[in-house]
Amino acid sequence: MVLLGSPGVGKGTQGMRLGASLDWAHVSTGDLLRAARREGTELGVRAKRFMDRGDLVPDEVMIGLVRDRLAALGSKRGVILDGFPRTVGQAEALEGMLEREGRSVARVALLEADDQLLVRRISGRRSSPSGRVYNIHYDPPRREGVCDDTGEPLIHRPDDSPGTVRARLAVYRETTEPLIGHYERRGVLARVNGDGTIDEVQTELLAALEAEARP
Ligand code: AMP
Repeated sequence: MVLLGSPGVGKGTQGMRLGASLDWAHVSTGDLLRAARREGTELGVRAKRFMDRGDLVPDEVMIGLVRDRLAALGSKRGVILDGFPRTVGQAEALEGMLEREGRSVARVALLEADDQLLVRRISGRRSSPSGRVYNIHYDPPRREGVCDDTGEPLIHRPDDSPGTVRARLAVYRETTEPLIGHYERRGVLARVNGDGTIDEVQTELLAALEAEARP
């Protein structure tokens, strides 16, 4: 399954929860790149300048990354892809790699919300090194600036600054939005209102997935 939607719409939060409730693997390409940067790998070094500008990391890098990750996961469990594909080229490559395994993209959930809400959500976002994401407006930690689970200090992603967010929204409009038509034509798209609380969106997301699954 693919989670599609603009930056800040809640793909990460919803993907993590959905993965836990369905016992599917949650694969976030943004998280994989941030981990590579923390570890200082060649991939991390290469991705940095694109990410810091709010640009996309080149397709061939991303396709290789996802191919390796899917191969490592095997084909027994369902997978929720969050943040991939982001270009038509990535979508076509994904279809090719799944077809070779006799698999396919069964469902694409498009999370939708207006720009004002997206900017507010992104500006309030604070991340723990553990991977857990808080929001100072909607889902704050118990103690300001500190992760509830690990006690580590929370960080504000550098690409969540207002200038970079505007660039990321523009890239989404130009390069990623065409995927909506791509998946609509394949009959796998489900639209979900992302403009609610985390629980409300989760309920709508599950309902949309079940409704679409009926013949
Ligand atoms: P995210 O956490 O999904 O918002 O991703 C953060 C940043 O990682 C993006 O702004 C891109 O620079 C890069 N990135 C993540 N996924 C992709 C992808 N599928 N294609 C290209 N760049 C990506």
